[in-house]
Amino acid sequence: MPLVNTKEMFEKAYNGGYAIGAFNCNNMEIVQAITEAAKECNSPVILQVSAGARKYAKPIYLKKMVEAAVEDTGLPIVLHLDHGADFEMCKDCIDSGFTSVMIDASSKPFEENIEITRKVCEYAHAHKPYVTVEAELGTLAGIEDDVKVEHGSESYTKPEDVEEFVRRTGCDSLAIAIGTSHGAYKFKPEQCTRDENGVLCPPPLRFDILEEVSKRLPGFPIVLHGSSSVNQEYVKIINENGGQLKDAVGVPEKQLRQAAKLAVCKINIDSDLRLAMTAGIREHFNAHPDHFDPRQYVGDGRKYVKEVVKHKIMEVLGSNDKI
Ligand SMILES: [Zn+2]
Repeated sequence: MPLVNTKEMFEKAYNGGYAIGAFNCNNMEIVQAITEAAKECNSPVILQVSAGARKYAKPIYLKKMVEAAVEDTGLPIVLHLDHGADFEMCKDCIDSGFTSVMIDASSKPFEENIEITRKVCEYAHAHKPYVTVEAELGTLAGIEDDVKVEHGSESYTKPEDVEEFVRRTGCDSLAIAIGTSHGAYKFKPEQCTRDENGVLCPPPLRFDILEEVSKRLPGFPIVLHGSSSVNQEYVKIINENGGQLKDAVGVPEKQLRQAAKLAVCKINIDSDLRLAMTAGIREHFNAHPDHFDPRQYVGDGRKYVKEVVKHKIMEVLGSNDKI
């Protein structure tokens, strides 16, 4: 099976009350961990590449690795551009064989966002085969590669904007801001309460906005960015092995599971994979200070990333056995 776009995948996810995991990849071990986990769970999957990943690994390497994963697993896999900054970057990815792109003009005024998104959609949809386009309305706080928004400057998506935006742009899916955030420090401690173990509990997602948006756009796939949960199990391994991650906090998995049952068809997970990789490598070095073969320690990182992806598919996304 060749790479696929998100169209059929999202249709099934919407009707089936689950979401597809969109995992960021930067190197071979991450690609393998994600796709091997998906294979074992019999789950469709989206591999996404950010501008930072393109800079780090070169687009051609990422593309070929994802193609290798498609051949190796036989799974329906989408190769998606995460946070395309402008028309040119989207065009470059479409021309080089990506099956889906995101144009993120969410920091621009409404009319300008529509203009840029519409232009990308026209190009992507005229491409053979059809390339799907994700757009964004509203802005998330936090840091993800080149995307940085200060806490306090984020803005929730306004439900009254979404129908006009989708109608005038022709986008295939829409990322909305309902309180998720990029990175491993999604919320400032003062935005949170603490549980009995002193672990931060973030403010709940704005399900009222999600419901209002999906009422206005029946059957239309919604996307959540910044949806790592910053599993404390991995933070603990990191900190017990020389790391210093203080007050790292994510979105509770229970809330994401709830969103996946509603109109949310794509959930982006990056930080949780970074944490798992780091936990595996730190633990390895601590246990084996004499090791210097990258296959040994990166291999342990890959094992943890695979564990996390399986957990997400089965317990959060619900996309297992959906092929
Ligand atoms: Zn994002």
